[in-house]
Amino acid sequence: METKFLQNNMDDIKTAGEILKNGGLVGIPTETVYGLAANALNSEAVEKIFKAKGRPQDNPLIVHISDLSEIDDLVSYVPPVVYELADVFWPGPLTIILEKSDLIPSVVSGGLDTVAIRMPSHPVARQIIKAAGVPLAAPSANTSGMPSPTTVEHVMHDMDGKIDAVLDGGPCEFGVESTVITLCTRKPRLLRPGGITPEELEEILCDLEIDKAVLSELEDNEVAASPGMKYKHYSPKAEVFVVEGNSEDFAEYVNTISKEEKGIFALVFTEDESLVNCEKISFGKKEDNLAHASKLFAALREFDELGAKKVYVHSPEYDGVGLAVMNRLLRSAGHKIIKL
Ligand code: AMP
Ligand code: MG
Repeated sequence: METKFLQNNMDDIKTAGEILKNGGLVGIPTETVYGLAANALNSEAVEKIFKAKGRPQDNPLIVHISDLSEIDDLVSYVPPVVYELADVFWPGPLTIILEKSDLIPSVVSGGLDTVAIRMPSHPVARQIIKAAGVPLAAPSANTSGMPSPTTVEHVMHDMDGKIDAVLDGGPCEFGVESTVITLCTRKPRLLRPGGITPEELEEILCDLEIDKAVLSELEDNEVAASPGMKYKHYSPKAEVFVVEGNSEDFAEYVNTISKEEKGIFALVFTEDESLVNCEKISFGKKEDNLAHASKLFAALREFDELGAKKVYVHSPEYDGVGLAVMNRLLRSAGHKIIKL
């Protein structure tokens, strides 16, 4: 199939809405990463998402809405705290898991009796949802296992010829996926860190728990609270290592390896640039977690373009949005951490 390339104007947004209404797939911009959208209430359309991505069937999708009132039909009950959360964080990069209603097909929920809901803040994303007239199921628009797409070029790289259309809304603001919390456990629980930090959530959810899978690997016999957490993720072809240590030690470590081996690359902070001799990409100043988030996935894709065999990443801090960056990095590195 030929993938239509749509622009950010009202005619093309309308076209995207028509395609979605008729059961097609469209790559759409959001403030987190590009999503691969389908009508969430049409199981045949949603099945095409799994096929295009090669996504495991048991990994549920997030349902995107454009107005808070749309949530009523999608879940069996709206706990009052949802309105408090929505007041502060919606539209925005927060996904809330609730008990699903019968309207949500089981292909969307990966067979679970819960559903993940989010209202994106990207105006074009909400305009497309409105134009489609239905809630949109949309995972990240990458081939399963690859880094998530933060530009329309990334989407085309993975999805050209596999989906009906993609709409260019420019590069994504946050660059990492939404924060996912569930309200279906005894205490509210953070399943995936993202643009909204645990500290911000704790202002409303004082008893928020952090799921073990956020920073550590699940044992073979453990069940993932969020099915997506058990799969290899965000992985470029190059082998990725996370390296903890100060700038001098990090530079000495990668400089030594790159003298002995070919294809060695580093993902560094601005402060490391003058010290590191091998080929490198910078993802911003050491303290700038938001810059790391917005550049991470594009950098991982660029390493592949450059033919990297091994990538050594200077580890950011775990606080604030840094928790989301570390969560993605540890997955892309298969949890290989080198402590200097
Ligand atoms: P993606 O759409 O690729 O950003 O991934 C969505 C993430 O949300 C995955 O990690 C899913 O496992 C998780 N998720 C979606 N729906 C549910 C649900 N009902 N229960 C638990 N996790 C969910
Ligand atoms: Mg994804």
